[in-house]
Amino acid sequence: MGTGLADVDAMADALDEAQRMLADALICLAEAEETLRAIGAGEVDAFVVSDGADSQRVFTLSTADRPYRVFVENMREGAATVSLSGIILYANRRLAELLSCPRESLVGLPLATFGGGADPIDLHEVRGPSGLGATVELDLVDSAGLVVPVLVGSSPLDADGEGLTCLTFTDLRAQRTQDRVIAQLSMDQAERMTDLQDAQAALTMQATHDALTGLPNRALVVDRIDQALAHAQRTNRRTVVLFVDLDSFKNINDSYGHAAGDAALRIAADRLAASLRPMDTIARIGGDEFVVLAPDVDNNFDVVGLGKRLVAGLSDMGDELDPATPLSGSVGIAISTEGRGTAEILIKEADTAMYHAKSLGGGRVETFDAALGRRVEQRSAAQRMLQAAIDDHRVVVRYQPIVDLATGVVSGLEALARISQHDGSMLLPPSFIAVAEESGLINPLGAQVLRLACEATAEWQRARVEERLTIAVNVSVRQLGPGDLTMLVQSSLEESGLDATCLSLELTETAVFDLRPDILNQLGQIRDLGVEIGLDDFGTGYASLTHLRRLPLSFVKIDRSFVQRLLTDKEDEGIVAAVVDLAANLGLRSVAEGIETTEQLLRLQQIGCNQGQGYLFARPLPPQEVPSAIARTDW
Ligand code: C2E
Ligand code: CA
Ligand code: CA
Repeated sequence: MGTGLADVDAMADALDEAQRMLADALICLAEAEETLRAIGAGEVDAFVVSDGADSQRVFTLSTADRPYRVFVENMREGAATVSLSGIILYANRRLAELLSCPRESLVGLPLATFGGGADPIDLHEVRGPSGLGATVELDLVDSAGLVVPVLVGSSPLDADGEGLTCLTFTDLRAQRTQDRVIAQLSMDQAERMTDLQDAQAALTMQATHDALTGLPNRALVVDRIDQALAHAQRTNRRTVVLFVDLDSFKNINDSYGHAAGDAALRIAADRLAASLRPMDTIARIGGDEFVVLAPDVDNNFDVVGLGKRLVAGLSDMGDELDPATPLSGSVGIAISTEGRGTAEILIKEADTAMYHAKSLGGGRVETFDAALGRRVEQRSAAQRMLQAAIDDHRVVVRYQPIVDLATGVVSGLEALARISQHDGSMLLPPSFIAVAEESGLINPLGAQVLRLACEATAEWQRARVEERLTIAVNVSVRQLGPGDLTMLVQSSLEESGLDATCLSLELTETAVFDLRPDILNQLGQIRDLGVEIGLDDFGTGYASLTHLRRLPLSFVKIDRSFVQRLLTDKEDEGIVAAVVDLAANLGLRSVAEGIETTEQLLRLQQIGCNQGQGYLFARPLPPQEVPSAIARTDW
C-alpha cells in the first residue's frame, strides 16, 4: 500500500497536537470569558497580554479611570451601561442592591427584565427623543418581584462606534414614602382647615343667633335695624320695630317646667315668623322677648295690623301646648320716619310701648308716641330722684299712733316713709312707692325706714316714753328676696337694741303674691325671731282666706276704704264685721285704719275691732311730736 507506518505515526501525532491545541484553545476561551466577565464586573484592575516569550503588554484598567470606577462603585445611585439593544454591559454594586440581584447575573441581561413585564423599560424613552439623554421616573421590579420606583437618568456613550447608554438609577422609595406622608399630612391639614372653618361658622352663628329658636339674636337685629335706618334716610320710608313679649310665659315655665317653656318659645318663634313678610327680621333678644324689624315700609302699610297679626298668631298656639294655658303676647311698636333714631332707641321705644300694652292688661298692641315717652321720662326722673334721696339719706319717717280701741291707750306706732325734698317739703309715698317697687329701689328705701324706725322706737323705750312701745313697719312683697329681709330685720334689731317682739311688719300687697315656699320660709324665719307679721290693706288686694291661713300672721289691717264707708254702706259694714270675726277665729288681731270720725270709732268698737289708727287720733307725726302724742290718754 502507498501509505507507510511513518505516515500513520505522523497523522497520529498531528491528531494529538490538534487535540492539545483544541484543549488549550478551550482553556483560553474559558479564561477569556472569565476575564471579560471580571472586567465587566469591575473586578479586574489590570491585565497582561503576552504574544511570545519576549513580548508582553500590560493593560491597566486602574490607572486613569480608577477614580471614576471607585466613584461609580460607591455611588448612592445605581449605575449601568447598556447596549443599544438594552443588554446590561455593566452594573455597579448599588444597582445590584436595588434590583436584589447579584452583579454577575446582571451583566448580559436585558434591562427590560426589570421592567415588570407589562411595562418594559423603553430605552428610547429613557434616552429621550433626541437620544441625548433625559430623566424619567420608572417603576422597576426587582428579582423578588417588588416594585422599586426609580428616577432614571441617562447619557449616551459612544464606544467603538457602538451606541451605548450610561444610566443612573436614583432610588425613589424613601421619597415616595415621604410623598405619601406629605399627602396624608396635607389631607389632615385640609381636614383641620374645614374643621376650623366649620368651627368659625358655628361661632359666627352662635354670636349672631339664638341657640334655642335659631332666630337672629339682639346683636344681629340691632345691626339690621341700623342698616334699615341708614337706607331709609335715602328713601324717606319708614322703619318699624315691634317689641313682642309673651304675657304668661313665666306661668308656663313655673307650672310646666323649663322643657315646656323652651317648647313654647320655639312655637312662639314659628308663629311670629309666620306673620311676617320675607324682608322682615324676627329676633329673640331675651327670655320671652322678641323684636321684629319691618324695614322699608310705606305710609299705607298697616303697622298696627301687623302687630295684631302677631298677637293673634301667638294666641293660637295654646292648643299645641296645653289647652289650659292659652298664650298671649303684648306688642309695642316704634316707628322711625326718614331713618331717624338708632336701633337702640327704637327697641327701647317699642319696649316702652309693649310695657304700656302689658299694663293695660296684655294681649294688645300699643304704639310709642311722645306722650308715652314723657311718662317714661317722668318715671325715670322719679327713679333718679329716689336714688338721690336714698344716697343723701333724705328718707325720713313719720309715725302714726295705733290705739287700743278698748282702752284708748297708744299701743304702738306705724312707720310711714317720706322723702325730704331740698325745699323742705315732704314727698308722700304715693309719688314714690310704685317707682321704688318697679325699680327695686324699695330694698334700700325699706332698709333705711326699718333702721330709722327701730332706732327711734328703741330710743323712746329707753327714754321711758313707753316701755313696751311697738313699731309697725311696711314691707313690700318685693322685699322678700331670698334671705335678704331676715338678715335686714336681724341687723336692724341688733343695731338698735330693740326687742324683736316690739317690731311688726305690715305686708303690703300691691300685686298678687304667690305663696311660694321660699317666701313662706322667709316669713317663718322672721316670725321665729319674735317679730309679728300682719297683712295690710286687707279686703282690697289679692289676699285671700288662703293667705290668712298659710302666712304666719299675727294681725290683719282692714283697709281705710271700708272704714270710710262703714256708716254709709251696709255691705261694707258687713265686710268689716266679717273680717273682725274671721280674724278673731284665726287668732289674729284686727286693726282698722283711716278712722277719721268718732262715729266710725264707735262702730268699730261695737264690732269688736281690736286696734285703730287715723286722723281722729293723730296724723303721721314727726319723731319729736311722738312722746307727747303717746302721753295723751284723752282719745
Ligand atoms: P298704708 O300702709 O295703708 O298706710 C296708711 C296710709 O293712710 C298712710 O298714707 C297714712 O298717712 C294714711 N292715713 C292714716 N290715717 C288716715 C286717715 O285718717 N285718713 C286718710 N285719708 N288717710 C290716713 P301714706 O303715708 O301716704 O302711705 C301710703 C302707703 O304707702 C302706705 O299705706 C303704705 O302702703 C305705703 N308705705 C308708706 N311707707 C312705706 C314704707 O316704708 N315701705 C313700704 N313698702 N310702703 C310704705
Ligand atoms: Ca301700713
Ligand atoms: Ca292701708
